[in-house]
Amino acid sequence: MKKWINAWQYRCPRCRKSPLFAEPFEISKPLEMPYACTTCGQRYEPEPGYYFGAMFISYGLSCVLLLPIALILNIYTELSVNGIMAIIIFIGAVLFMRILRLSRSLWIHIMIRYDPNAITRYNARKKKKP
Ligand SMILES: [Zn+2]
Repeated sequence: MKKWINAWQYRCPRCRKSPLFAEPFEISKPLEMPYACTTCGQRYEPEPGYYFGAMFISYGLSCVLLLPIALILNIYTELSVNGIMAIIIFIGAVLFMRILRLSRSLWIHIMIRYDPNAITRYNARKKKKP
């Protein structure tokens, strides 16, 4: 459960301390991430195209959120299909950034496990280097 709360808060999946995305948030660079976690050294993009799978999570999240709203509007209101589509597109645009970042965060949290000793090992490794 804590893993999903951590994903919701955009924290490093390995140490759960550092932020996953560059701060402060810039609208022109919504997906900018540091190269690696400053606390445990976990790389945020372990290989090129790593976040390709996040696209499917984004699609699934959008469907799960927007489809029920469209069905409820269709069943309980007298709105036309075009009106319902306009509302759905508006909600989708409002939630776009949140879903975009959340899908990346969920993807890296699915792939990388929490490691309580990651910080200790990372600090020991840093000390060994001259
Ligand atoms: Zn970390």
